[in-house]
Amino acid sequence: MAGEPQADCLFCKIVAGDVPATVVRESQTIVAFRDINPQAPTHILVIPKAHYVDAASLAAAEPHLAADVLAEAGAVAEEENIVPSETGPGSGYRIVFNTGAGAGQTVFHAHAHVLGGRGLNWPPG
Ligand code: C5P
Repeated sequence: MAGEPQADCLFCKIVAGDVPATVVRESQTIVAFRDINPQAPTHILVIPKAHYVDAASLAAAEPHLAADVLAEAGAVAEEENIVPSETGPGSGYRIVFNTGAGAGQTVFHAHAHVLGGRGLNWPPG
């Protein structure tokens, strides 16, 4: 059934507590944890507890859950003090949904990367 946990999914295992993660926020619908291979001083993943392969699949099936992920990404940024209060490097953050292997997606359970704490270049690599 759509959204059900998948036995072979790493992030479903984190949701279940079977794989350890440094959790920074949790609600009924999401978990947020620090990326094990951080690409910036703040690098946190926000995932829906329900299993969808990517952000678009999540939004199409359960738009309210996609909204939860975005709202929690904003809450993470507040907690990490990376909200844009001024201009210049290190102010502001990026929310990234890699979608598809060609775009760098390696875990096929929808997740938002919240990146900040340093200047972020555009375009991304
Ligand atoms: O967008 P992508 O699918 O590549 O992102 C997956 C992310 O999950 C990577 O940044 C990786 O470092 C992270 N990860 C993690 N904990 C794990 C396995 C992967 O934070 N146990």
